[in-house]
Amino acid sequence: MSDEKPINEPIEIPGWWIEDLHYGYRQMLKIEKLYYDSKTESQRIMVFENQTFGRVLTLDNILQTTEKDEFMYHEMMAHVPILAHGAVHSVLIIGGGDGGMLKQVVKHKAIGRIVQVEIDPEVIEFSKKYLPMLSDGAFDDPRFELVISDGAKYAAEAEEQFDVIIVDSTDPVGPGKALFTEEFYTNLSRLLADGGVVVTQNGIPFTQADEVINTMAAFRKLFVDYACYTSTVPGYAGGQMCYGWGTNDPNLRKVPLEVLQRRYEAEKLETKYYTPEVHIASFALPKYIKDLIPEREALTL
Ligand code: SAM
Repeated sequence: MSDEKPINEPIEIPGWWIEDLHYGYRQMLKIEKLYYDSKTESQRIMVFENQTFGRVLTLDNILQTTEKDEFMYHEMMAHVPILAHGAVHSVLIIGGGDGGMLKQVVKHKAIGRIVQVEIDPEVIEFSKKYLPMLSDGAFDDPRFELVISDGAKYAAEAEEQFDVIIVDSTDPVGPGKALFTEEFYTNLSRLLADGGVVVTQNGIPFTQADEVINTMAAFRKLFVDYACYTSTVPGYAGGQMCYGWGTNDPNLRKVPLEVLQRRYEAEKLETKYYTPEVHIASFALPKYIKDLIPEREALTL
C-alpha cells in the first residue's frame, strides 16, 4: 500500500498479533509464545508461535513467512523457474533473509553458484536461531555466497549474470519499496544470462492489484515474454499469491509436462506443493488477474 492511501488506526489486543498491511482489512494471529521482538536499523522483527501456522516471522507488522505454509511460496518461486530453464548454473536471490528460498534452491545439485543479497543481516542471524527449520542448514552450503546490501544498489552495480533471479522481497513498503521500481527491474534484466528468467514476489492481486499492474507494465517493456503465475499461501490473506515472470525466452513458459516430469524426477526433488502438473497449471490465471496485465492476450498458454 502506498503512503498516500489511508492508514489504519492503531489497535492492540493483548496476546494477539494484528497485521497492518491493508486499510480496513486486517488478519490477526494469536501469539501462543513470543520468541523475539526487536527493532533493527531497517525494520521491526517479530517471531512468535501460533497454533495454526507454527512459528511466524513478521517484519514491520507484516507477515513474512510461517513454518507451516512456507513451502507453498518457496517451492513455487524456486522450482518453477529452475525446472522451466532446465540447465541452471547460477541463481541470484534478492531478499529472502529467512532462508526458506535458499533451502529450495540448494536442492538442485547442478547449480554451482548461489548469491543472496539481503539488506538486513539480523533477519538472517535471528532466522537461523528462531526459525532454523526454514533454512535447514542451507546457509552452510559451499555454493552459497551472502552479500549484505540493498538489492537495488547491488542490481545497479553488479556485472555478474545469472540464469535465474528470484526476488523474495517484503511488500513495497520500507526497504522493500526499492525492489518494485522500473529502474530495479531494468537492472535485473541486465543481470540475466541468455535464456534466463526472473521471478518476483508480486503480492495478492485481490488486495494488491497495483503490484501486479506496475510490475507487468515494466516487464512488458523489458522482456520478450512476461507473465504471472500463482499459488495459494494461507498466511498471505486475501486470495491467491502472484509471482511475476520475465524472460527473453518464450519457450520457458511452454515446457511440456513430460520434460518437467523428467527434470523433476532426475533431481529427486522432495516437494509438498510443487508438482510438474501444478507448475503448468499455475500459469492459468483467473480472469480478474489476467485483466491486470497489459496486452494480456500475449499470455495464452
Ligand atoms: N516471502 C515474504 C513475503 O512475501 O512477504 C518475503 C520474506 S523475506 C523475509 C523478505 C526479505 O527481504 C527480508 O529479509 C528483508 O530484510 C529483505 N529486504 C527488504 N528490502 C530489501 C532490499 N531493498 N534489499 C535486499 N533485501 C531486502
